[in-house]
Amino acid sequence: MTATEDSAVSEREAAKRATGSPSAAGEPTAKKAPAKKAPAKKAPAKRAPAKKTAARKAADARATAEQAAAEPTGKPAAKKAPAAEKAAPKKAPAAKKSAAKKATADKPAAKKTAAKKPAAKKATAPKTAAGKTAAKKQSSGTSTESQASKSRRAARINEALADVYYYAHPELDFENPFELLVATVLSAQTTDLRVNQSTPALFAAYPTPEDMAAADPEELEELIRPTGFFRAKAKSLLGLSAALRDEFGGEVPGTVDELVTLPGVGRKTAFVVLGNAFGVPGLTVDTHFGRLVRRWKLTEQTDAVKVEQEIDALLPKSEWTMFSHRTIFHGRRICHSRKPACGACPIAELCPSYGEGETDPEKARKLLKYEMGGQPGQRLKPPADYPGQPAPPLPSRAPATGAAR
Ligand code: SF4
Repeated sequence: MTATEDSAVSEREAAKRATGSPSAAGEPTAKKAPAKKAPAKKAPAKRAPAKKTAARKAADARATAEQAAAEPTGKPAAKKAPAAEKAAPKKAPAAKKSAAKKATADKPAAKKTAAKKPAAKKATAPKTAAGKTAAKKQSSGTSTESQASKSRRAARINEALADVYYYAHPELDFENPFELLVATVLSAQTTDLRVNQSTPALFAAYPTPEDMAAADPEELEELIRPTGFFRAKAKSLLGLSAALRDEFGGEVPGTVDELVTLPGVGRKTAFVVLGNAFGVPGLTVDTHFGRLVRRWKLTEQTDAVKVEQEIDALLPKSEWTMFSHRTIFHGRRICHSRKPACGACPIAELCPSYGEGETDPEKARKLLKYEMGGQPGQRLKPPADYPGQPAPPLPSRAPATGAAR
């Protein structure tokens, strides 16, 4: 050992003594220990991050969930929740809509079928017991039926009649309110046809109230004789003409209250004149109208004024005049007093009295009248849309042919 080496050894020894550390005690030992411990330390070091990641993930998930639950307005939760909420209400209206659409679609379809295919109905619905039951089901007409239900049925009947009798009109020929007033007075206890066949000569002889008021009673009677009850009717015509001349300046008044003051004029006549000459809505409760609304169980009243009031309450005012015409048309053509032609009735499915008349379609068809039965109508001058033939004029009386010898 050289002096330098000896000095270095001495220095290392001195250092060992001064620190006392193992590493300082001998290099081999110090090197081995860290080498063995290193892998042990490394293993946990490696696992720790793995566990930490899982734990953190779990913790993050919990935190997110908690945040979502705690913050309804938090972004993810808030977005999801309203989406779900929105989805539900959207589905419900959609379902309701489709159901409503179905119902709406079904209704008009039924109406259309009822109105536009009367022939098909004639053949099916009225003939069978099932059809009868269906008809009764569709139109309750019970005494306990609500006003709203009756009103709905009245509207359906009115719509169906409007499709069938699209050409419904007053069946008296007239050119002005005075002629309509006179023709309506004459129509009591006779047909409109008979009146229409009589009025051309009457109006030619007495075109104004002044002319008629000054008429010779016997000549007047003779002109209206074909309408029946001609003496009483002549008296009414003379009286109402004089009243128009003296109290209303020769004009027909436009209110019910004024009209009913005229001789021979009641509410029915007043509403015919108001509805058709003045455009004022009103129901005409004649024998056909009363019978049919009772068959439809829209009223049980027999008094004309009460019938008018009850039916008024079921339909909009704007429909009153035309509902009257349609109903009267139906009564004159199909729903007759003694033998209604149920088997050929286009509104059988709406009628609670189906079966009151002839239900066999073939037999029922033979009961139809006027244009429905291929016969002439009641007006000599019908409206342009009338699908039937005009009525013939009054057959002229055969001239006296007795040859005197
Ligand atoms: S004809 Fe028969 S089914 Fe038609 S409305 Fe009259 S009663 Fe009813």
